[in-house]
Amino acid sequence: MDMDEQLWSEARKICRICLRIDPRSFDIFNSYYVERNTLYCDMLAYCTKYILHPKDGLPPYMCRNCIEHLEDMYEFHLDCEESEKNFLWLLSVR
Ligand SMILES: [Zn+2]
Repeated sequence: MDMDEQLWSEARKICRICLRIDPRSFDIFNSYYVERNTLYCDMLAYCTKYILHPKDGLPPYMCRNCIEHLEDMYEFHLDCEESEKNFLWLLSVR
C-alpha cells in the first residue's frame, strides 16, 4: 500500500457525519440496527432523504455517538408514522 492509499484508507475511517475518528465506528453499509433489523445506511437515507451508495466516495463509517443519534431519530420517525396512522384510523371509523 503506498502513502496515498494508506492516507485514503485512514481518511475513510472518519465518521461521515461528525468527521471524528472513533475505533468503535460502524460501516453503515454492512452494520444493522439489531432492534429493527435495518441497515444503518437505510436508516440514514430514511431520516435525511439523502441518497446513499457504498461507492459514493464518502466515508462509509459512522461513529458510535452519531449511530446513537441515528437510532433515536429513526425511532422518533417510526413513532410519528405510527401515531399518524393510528389517528387517521380513528378518524376513519368515527
Ligand atoms: Zn460521528
